[in-house]
Amino acid sequence: MIPFNKPYQSGKELEYMQAALDNNKISGDGMFTKKCHHFFESKYNIKKALLTTSCTDALELAALLINIQPGDEVIIPSYTFVSTANAFELRGAKIVFADSESNNPNIDTNKLEALITSKTKAIVPVHYAGVACNMNAIMALANKYNLFVIEDAAQAIESKFENKYLGTIGHLAAFSFHETKNIISGEGGLLAINDEQFIQRAEIIREKGTNRSQFFRGEVDKYSWVDIGSSFLPSDLIAAYLFAQLESIEKIQKRRLEIWNVYFNGLKQLSEKGIIQFANIPDYASNNAHMFYIVCNNEIQRNELLLFLKQNNIGAVFHYISLHQSVYYLKNNKKVALANSDKFTSNLIRLPFYYELSDEQIIFIIGKIISFFNN
Ligand SMILES: *Cc1c(COP(=O)(O)O)cnc(C)c1O
Repeated sequence: MIPFNKPYQSGKELEYMQAALDNNKISGDGMFTKKCHHFFESKYNIKKALLTTSCTDALELAALLINIQPGDEVIIPSYTFVSTANAFELRGAKIVFADSESNNPNIDTNKLEALITSKTKAIVPVHYAGVACNMNAIMALANKYNLFVIEDAAQAIESKFENKYLGTIGHLAAFSFHETKNIISGEGGLLAINDEQFIQRAEIIREKGTNRSQFFRGEVDKYSWVDIGSSFLPSDLIAAYLFAQLESIEKIQKRRLEIWNVYFNGLKQLSEKGIIQFANIPDYASNNAHMFYIVCNNEIQRNELLLFLKQNNIGAVFHYISLHQSVYYLKNNKKVALANSDKFTSNLIRLPFYYELSDEQIIFIIGKIISFFNN
């Protein structure tokens, strides 16, 4: 069986976890957490980086920071992971779904302005497959209507919009280090703060509503309960694993891009004949090789191909069920029509993608896909 995903160890993960233990500090904000923060702040120019236990948590922290209140509206793509919606739903927001572009699951910025009302508080673009949304269009709307932008950059590490790294453009952004992402720690995430007004409160909310971070820096002489909060910080063992990955980011990205290109070149003949479609990567976006997906021409064919690959021991998978079609949403809301979102729900397939996937395995997968369409 070629699995869909296999978590990767780049080399120093266990050594660094042992070092955290030897340091007698494995709770949050230890030595390795600080190294990870520094990595993100210096490499990507994020004003303040804060590790969280997941991207889901980083999004929830963001929703608290922008002070979402019941009745506020938040615009997100429907074709996304549940956490993009839940973070705001939990605070009582009304989720407003935007459709995807026709040739790319990212939010269609041409249809965004029509969704903005006097209650709109934020837009949450998701950079699907690490391919940038049109951030110029989104930031222009945010400025015009005084909205916050929170980038769901879960899949977007190392990727850029024009010359800017994703996760550095919105007021806030959330990254994921779940084992299916490029850089992993099993579970894990990061809140990127690009608007300085949020830094102090983010530290407090992340530390159970206390000013403990200031206390440890010697800025206050005791710490106490100063705001609402929760426990969003990961153990330093997780940060140790993550830091080993970050140190290997160039090696990891190089191999992932090679894998992506082997798939692309091998399947090009099918896309040229219009049998499948590839990810459209606009000129303003880069490719971080987060995933390789193909889009079939209809759902029946997609499901037959998935079954055929499974019979050949290839762990290909479909992806999101659009949230506007979900049980939870339809329980409380009227049906909305989002044709592009529906198309990606029914026609998209993600192919196995992980560091240790060999060229031989990829060529085997390509051969099976081509033989499926030849019959
Ligand atoms: C993976 C992912 C998340 C959730 O990340 P976790 O770290 O598992 O909480 C959120 N949004 C998107 C777009 C994702 O791909």
